[in-house]
Amino acid sequence: TGVVAALSGAPPTRTALAQFALLGRVAMVTGGQRGIGLELALALAEGGAVVYCLDLPPTPDADWMKVQQFCSSLPDLGVGAHKKGRMEYMSCNVTDQKAMWTIAEQIAEKEGRVDICIANAGVLRGAECLEWDGEDFKKLLDVNINGAFFTAQAAGRQMEKRNIRGSIVMIASMSGTITNPNMHWTAYNTSKAAVLQMMRSMACELGPKGIRVNALSPGYIYTNMTKAFLQGKSELERMWCAQNPLGRLGNPDELRGAALWLASDASTFCTGSDIRVDGGQTAW
Ligand code: NDP
Repeated sequence: TGVVAALSGAPPTRTALAQFALLGRVAMVTGGQRGIGLELALALAEGGAVVYCLDLPPTPDADWMKVQQFCSSLPDLGVGAHKKGRMEYMSCNVTDQKAMWTIAEQIAEKEGRVDICIANAGVLRGAECLEWDGEDFKKLLDVNINGAFFTAQAAGRQMEKRNIRGSIVMIASMSGTITNPNMHWTAYNTSKAAVLQMMRSMACELGPKGIRVNALSPGYIYTNMTKAFLQGKSELERMWCAQNPLGRLGNPDELRGAALWLASDASTFCTGSDIRVDGGQTAW
């Protein structure tokens, strides 16, 4: 396929942009009612996928409320019954393994398949490492490590059962590779390093089944998660900006391209990789 095939006389089966098309694909995105999760869910729906946003029960300020309007404005992408992307919301707690298995099964039964999974739900708390309360420490690891695993596992089971060459994307973090000066994020950093090694292990095990597993590791991105730390602390924001070569924080929409690439057929030879979108912070 592609240019080489075209040069050798055979018509290319797909153009470069068509490789990103998601029409007919079904996706599940955890933590999908706000922040990075919602942004990536919207990107997948724009690409044509049916996207299930899985999250804790919606709070009154959930950005999810604004989504219906966006969905009605999605472009028609093709012919046939399934012409455009769609978004659905389902309540979930990623720390409940059996519930995650059931949710993935319900989606697969309703839509006939699960092609894409973005394990995005996560929490961030800080405390000095010698002071961390054991229960709080375990709670963070439960969401960020066990939750990511149960999500990927639930989707992977449906992909395997239906013989689907799916793509699982774990939202890790630059904090899985480097530490954040003065932030007291031992638990978070530990959890994200675990997610990266989980991703590599799952990629090796699931590769022979045609299922790809990769990570997307953002740097500092403006969302509720980071705003909670920045509130009224312009000095901290300046410090964070100075920690990457681009000298600024990122926005959730700057992760869309990498997520679409990983989720789609544009990256069919990529598995076990950590794609860093961090303004160059891990390059320093
Ligand atoms: P947000 O806090 O804005 O969104 C996280 C979402 O996850 C929320 O909707 C939250 O629900 C949901 N969630 C939390 N716990 C659970 C749970 N147990 N079950 C289901 N859903 C849950 O964070 P971001 O959008 O910033 O972060 C998304 C991911 O990106 C996280 O994994 C984070 O670690 C990672 N990341 C973020 C960076 C950043 O700078 N923002 C940088 C690097 C990585 P609710 O709000 O109702 O609690």
